[in-house]
Amino acid sequence: MFSSQLQPFLEPRKLADQEAEIKGQTIVSRLPRLAEFRDSQDEIVEVALRFGRDEEHRQCLSGTVKTELMLTCQRCLEPVRCQVEARPSLVMVYNEEQMKALPEHLDPWMVTDERITLSELLEEELLLALPLVAMHEQCPTVLHKSAEPAAAVESKRDNPFAVLAQLKSRDD
Ligand SMILES: [Zn+2]
Repeated sequence: MFSSQLQPFLEPRKLADQEAEIKGQTIVSRLPRLAEFRDSQDEIVEVALRFGRDEEHRQCLSGTVKTELMLTCQRCLEPVRCQVEARPSLVMVYNEEQMKALPEHLDPWMVTDERITLSELLEEELLLALPLVAMHEQCPTVLHKSAEPAAAVESKRDNPFAVLAQLKSRDD
């Protein structure tokens, strides 16, 4: 299916009145607050947002924002690839009073500007959706870990270019 290019800026209140749906993809490197996930910068972020009004006629936003990030396994401290999926369900509020008046089970979203930056919303939602504890289902074994440096030494020794370099330096 054709995935449309996401617009960098949104007008949430207008979109809510239009009951608009926004679908598309971006990549992690376009979300500056996710810059710390250096091994995940090329990952695709799938975005599907629905704007509209709830049964109380409040402007709201719901949908999904998902990607995969390399996190650190809390058991073995090796990298682990985790699916991160945010399911925002937000009610737009204009000010503090409205926020306080909102029933507790609803998530307020302060929208004071007409226009918002989409990437800021996506970053915020993904950061909130990070798992509290990232872990492999099955951690790589200790044996595998200790075998790696030995293999590296082996390939260095067999490198024909290293031998040539030695011959060359002898000629000099
Ligand atoms: Zn692990």
